[in-house]
Amino acid sequence: MKTALTIAGSDSGGGAGIQADLKTFSAHGVFGMSVITAVTAQNTMEVRSVQAIDTGIITDQIAAIFEDIHVDAVKIGMLGSKEIVETVAASLNTFLPAIVILDPVMISKSGHHLLDEKAVSALKTELLPLATLVTPNVPEAEVLTGLSIRTKQDFYEACISIKELGAKAVLLKGGHSAGNPNDLFYDGTDFFWIKGERIHTKNTHGTGCTLSSAITSNLANGLPLRQSIEQAKTYISEAIRNSFSLGKGHGPVHHFY
Ligand code: PLP
Repeated sequence: MKTALTIAGSDSGGGAGIQADLKTFSAHGVFGMSVITAVTAQNTMEVRSVQAIDTGIITDQIAAIFEDIHVDAVKIGMLGSKEIVETVAASLNTFLPAIVILDPVMISKSGHHLLDEKAVSALKTELLPLATLVTPNVPEAEVLTGLSIRTKQDFYEACISIKELGAKAVLLKGGHSAGNPNDLFYDGTDFFWIKGERIHTKNTHGTGCTLSSAITSNLANGLPLRQSIEQAKTYISEAIRNSFSLGKGHGPVHHFY
């Protein structure tokens, strides 16, 4: 069985973060492992509080896995602080996993900051160069590039600018812009659009986590990058179409539809 590791935050409500990642890995028949960077007290309505995990045990969690188990692909989600970004980058530089998907998580849908402002420059200089693929949404891409992203042309410029930060490839997600959620891929040579259809539901908690974990699973299973992204887009679209109400706020997507 192929393996995937998520390095991310825990969502006590189970819709996003580590919990969404592990469900997505399971749905793809991949053996999931997790390194927890932060614990959030969270439900479908809000993030109440966040406790960062001590960097020593983050380093130990990563080493414990890599010194024993083969990791086919790594996904990185919520990191929280500059210290954690630096800790994760140092460990990845030690173990050099072949595939690293970086979801540059910054703000939850409920509006809570999941990455300190001070951490952004460390993310850019230390983690982006290690990424096989980085998967920002529009607000995250605006923070990474300083650009305002509105038009199709802005999407192209933002992808070029993020690629220049050192990631091997970029998937700029269009879900936050008006109209259909079309995503733009760029690897320094080719651009291609991955078309999506707007599904009207309030139950979209964990969509970003789930998409990046689906791409990670597909890569772990040996699919090429383009096919991994296209199949993950189909998976997240169906997971959103089958999302359900749980609690009073934004319910989760359905990982096992
Ligand atoms: N909580 C954690 C721990 C996360 O890693 C993420 C990931 O993006 C979120 C919350 C945000 O999820 P959403 O924006 O879908 O609410």
